[in-house]
Amino acid sequence: RSGREDAVLRLPARTRDGRRLSVMINVAEPEELDALDPTTCDGIGLVRTEFLFHRPQGLPDEETQYRAYRRIVEWAAGRPNVLRTLDAGGDKPVPGLTIDDESNPFLGTRGIRLSLACPDVFMVQLRAMARAAALGDVKVMLPMVTVPQEIDQAAALLNRAVADLEAEGVACRRPALGIMVEVPAVAIEPALYANADFFSIGSNDLTQYVTASARDIAAVSTLNDAGHPAILSLIRRVVDVGREIGRDVSLCGDMGSDPAHIPALVGAGLATLSVAPPLVGRTKLAIAETGAEAS
Ligand code: PEP
Ligand code: MG
Repeated sequence: RSGREDAVLRLPARTRDGRRLSVMINVAEPEELDALDPTTCDGIGLVRTEFLFHRPQGLPDEETQYRAYRRIVEWAAGRPNVLRTLDAGGDKPVPGLTIDDESNPFLGTRGIRLSLACPDVFMVQLRAMARAAALGDVKVMLPMVTVPQEIDQAAALLNRAVADLEAEGVACRRPALGIMVEVPAVAIEPALYANADFFSIGSNDLTQYVTASARDIAAVSTLNDAGHPAILSLIRRVVDVGREIGRDVSLCGDMGSDPAHIPALVGAGLATLSVAPPLVGRTKLAIAETGAEAS
């Protein structure tokens, strides 16, 4: 880390002309938090819960998941936490759960599609998340949403999980339910998804689907470019529609920590970026170097 990064790491992120941004972190393994000071970030903008599903013991039960979420929420010490439901499939296969023989897994049964196809597995996760929501500022986020009905179905299951827990006398709370914006159909017509409580742009998948170039194939990596003007125009659209319909919009893809893209993202009106933990300082520095020219 450079000295200039260290200088801004402990300060709230602000552009040169004084605009305040939130810089949150993406967590893929809870161990990442051990070396990190929560006061250097504005919370956890994305918990990739896939880590729970890669254990040799098989699928995690409710208690195992609840303990993992509790540890994260306690670390955040009052800051917001966005827990994403299982995003298995595509680049994240889970043995025993994802379908092995799909011809194109990135266009197949991944993310919320898989969770809705396996409601017993999904309910365990929703119950654990609703219990964690009793402990702090917890929101739940759905990956790979393509049609608004998926949000309605997930909301119905979440409501049932909360009702069941209440009937059992288990402490819980109904968290807000938002979505990743990473399928082009959602980014093109965000107003159709007003049944989501918030939007978080997943630039990694949005870029691969908009440019038709896989995120994990090196031969097409120059095409897989978040800097394509089509991506920025979709981001602007989501931010603008979010403002119109009163939904918070953040960005949690890797684009948000790339200093080359930060002036454009600030200019698009994004006020919350969620980045890999080691990149918080770099992101805050790039924001501090962004001025009124980004608009
Ligand atoms: C994304 O797609 O941009 C994202 C943040 O999620 P993931 O990288 O886990 O697919
Ligand atoms: Mg994604």
